[in-house]
Amino acid sequence: MTGVPLRRREVFGVLGAAILAGGAVYLGVADSSAAKPRSIAPDAYTPGADTPDAYTPGAAYAPDGTAGKTAAVPRADVRLLGGPFQGNQQRDLAYLLFLDQDRMLRSFRVNYGLPAGAMPIGGWESPSSMIRGHVTGHLLSALAWAYAGTGTTASDQERRALKAKGDYFVAQLASLQARAPRAGYSDGYLSAFPEQYFTWLEQGKLNLVWSPYYMIHKYLAGLIDQYQLAGNAQALDVASRLADWVDRRTRNLSYQHMQGILETEFGGLPEALANLYAITGDQATLNTAERFYHARFLDPLAAGTDNLNGWQCNVSTPKVVASLRLAEETGNEKYWNAAVNFWRIATAHHSYAIGGQGNHEHWGPPDTVASALSNYNCEGCVSYNMLKLTRLLHFHAPGSAAYMDYYERTLVNHLLGTQDPGSPHGFVAYYTGLSPGAHKQVPSNYFPGADENAFATDYDTFTCDTATGLETPTRFTDTIYTRDPDSALRVNLFIPSRVRADGLTLRQATSIPAVPATTLTVESGTGLMTLRVRVPAWATSASATLNGRPQALPPRPAAVEVTRVWAPGDELLVSFGIGLTVRQAPDSARVASLAYGPVVLAALTGDASRMPALDPSSVRQVSASPLAFEAQGTFGTKGDARPIPLIPVCDVVHQPYTTYWQLA
Ligand SMILES: [Zn+2]
Repeated sequence: MTGVPLRRREVFGVLGAAILAGGAVYLGVADSSAAKPRSIAPDAYTPGADTPDAYTPGAAYAPDGTAGKTAAVPRADVRLLGGPFQGNQQRDLAYLLFLDQDRMLRSFRVNYGLPAGAMPIGGWESPSSMIRGHVTGHLLSALAWAYAGTGTTASDQERRALKAKGDYFVAQLASLQARAPRAGYSDGYLSAFPEQYFTWLEQGKLNLVWSPYYMIHKYLAGLIDQYQLAGNAQALDVASRLADWVDRRTRNLSYQHMQGILETEFGGLPEALANLYAITGDQATLNTAERFYHARFLDPLAAGTDNLNGWQCNVSTPKVVASLRLAEETGNEKYWNAAVNFWRIATAHHSYAIGGQGNHEHWGPPDTVASALSNYNCEGCVSYNMLKLTRLLHFHAPGSAAYMDYYERTLVNHLLGTQDPGSPHGFVAYYTGLSPGAHKQVPSNYFPGADENAFATDYDTFTCDTATGLETPTRFTDTIYTRDPDSALRVNLFIPSRVRADGLTLRQATSIPAVPATTLTVESGTGLMTLRVRVPAWATSASATLNGRPQALPPRPAAVEVTRVWAPGDELLVSFGIGLTVRQAPDSARVASLAYGPVVLAALTGDASRMPALDPSSVRQVSASPLAFEAQGTFGTKGDARPIPLIPVCDVVHQPYTTYWQLA
């Protein structure tokens, strides 16, 4: 398909002369920065009459880590309002409710000698797949997150269905786990494939296994989320028994033997074990987690060495999330250094413009971009894990702008755009290609011959990315707001939403980047609070009004901050300057990407497979909503210059595109 979805072709403004700033080239500021936010129609939500909040047991707050225990805003206190994030979440909810629980449990039942009872499922979940069962673990997490945090997207009935479905999975998995001895397995074993896989792994028979501990991670994470976010006490019991099984399986192995086992992918298993320890306080669980510290990958990072070249991105990134959680629970500085150094190295020297990582799923040498573009860049699950890591680090340094700048870039340009908005079940793409002729689709390397106009299917194309794609929309609310150490409410992300804090209910209305501003309005409640609104790196300026009165701000503020006794009707409007930014690839000054504010633009290239040459000074905005630009470009032959449409890369669906081009 080569359609060009430009509806309103009026030119918004002429972009001015380029100025150099901060290593990037800013191409003027569109006039729209002076406009007022458009009004957004009220929805049916009535503050105080929300659907029942998720049960949050005890003080443990495992999914947010130790620092997030005080800094995260509870799931039930943030709701999405109208916009692309809510639409994305709605389609995901439809899929979560659609997926047949008995088909998702089929391989588990067969593994314990029970009748299959349902049709098999496909892709990496097929009955013979060595990683069957992993999607069911992610589904447990997604159901819990959706139950806890989708109040304005899901109806009461839907939330009850989400809860009931999670309860059914947990009860079924508990009964299978109880059958382990009868099926010939060790006490506590729970999986969709035989325990023999772990014997083969321990024996080094790696042609017989893929990544068996990866599945254990997904089950544990799903069970912990069911306990923590959906209040299912049985889930904690099943998780504890499974963690005990991991301990018994590994406690007598030598350090060298264990390190050899860790050469095979194991997901973020020590993260889940650390999270479980945060709930139960069982030291054996934390000891087990530390046993899964993979020294060959993490030790060089702890020493500050960029060793990423050649490592598989999604095999490795969860180990770093786990290292941070281990640092939080043990205080071990090496674990902390590995996580902080990895984040700095990966985001500064191994990220593409959209925040994603990897070419053909691997990191290359540092600062390799132009020479590593393909239709197999940026696997979705890697960004899912990068955002988990970034979020946990933010809790330790909420004033550090870099974390939320990266978070926004990756969420808005990569993960939001991995879902096909035309699919009722929110199908998710595996790669987000960045080269000329890139196409979001079912990954053709794993599913040759699949429909190139589909991102996925209901049951036949399960992968790690359809799996993390179940979770991502349910987590959209988790980082929009956080609490600073001085208890200020920090606004990190510009997403239409409602938040409750300190007895106040605030509504955030924004349509960034169409109108580069956000409005926070107190809907109900009265009280003293500091509101701190992040000023993003992409903003060329910032200004604010409180109830219409201009607020004095320092030059280039890191945040707009207002402390007062807030009352219903109070309104803080924060406006940003916005413009086009050209970012040259680190390995070729001739190759660049283009962003408008936070949004990276893709050129719709039609059938052309060559990288177009674009003249940045020719870029013209043709529509604010949907955001669309146009530039003069050529595909190799001088004189064939023609207008090339540019739209946000996250809006590209079923069209060939490129995110990088040559500077004309
Ligand atoms: Zn993946």
